[in-house]
Amino acid sequence: RSLEQVLKDGIRDVPDYPQPGVVFKDITPLLADHSGFAQVVEALAASGKDDDGTPAVDKVVGIEARGFILAAPVALALGAGFVPVRKQGKLPAATYAESYALEYGEATIEVHQDAFAPGDRVLVIDDVLATGGTVEACLRLIRRCEAEVTATAVLLELSFLPGRDRLAGENVSALVTV
Ligand code: IMP
Repeated sequence: RSLEQVLKDGIRDVPDYPQPGVVFKDITPLLADHSGFAQVVEALAASGKDDDGTPAVDKVVGIEARGFILAAPVALALGAGFVPVRKQGKLPAATYAESYALEYGEATIEVHQDAFAPGDRVLVIDDVLATGGTVEACLRLIRRCEAEVTATAVLLELSFLPGRDRLAGENVSALVTV
């Protein structure tokens, strides 16, 4: 199967979740498909390789919660470490925190202050890029740790939302854009 077919088969629309009028992109069918999952991990890992196909990152960041599921196998595939970026209050040691606006209210994400060595090259992984607020805050966290963001890769980009504009100047790629 092509990667395109794998994504088509594995991502379903769930109407009215989490609120009426919202169509939620659900990746659980893809995760349950071993060969599809493996293909997607390989494709995301490509963002952490140089032009020769040599792994070129020290750490892979996963954003809670679906980002964890994708980022951990990508880290192993690249021979890199895994770093979780979590919702406020979940990480046990000293953290940096960054907040960003949601449609209603605000969200805060955190990373351990000692998660990176200075100069670490970092690949950021999440499942869906929507408004871009989550990834933008995540990049701020990584830079506060004096690590270097090499690339951001997501499974799915929602092009009707302004994520791409918000992340102008950043190296962001999506396996599929709808
Ligand atoms: P953003 O900050 O608006 O770009 O939202 C991205 C975050 O919300 C990601 O961490 C996604 O996991 C989550 N998200 C937003 N929309 C969807 C969706 O339709 N399916 C799955 N996750 C979503």
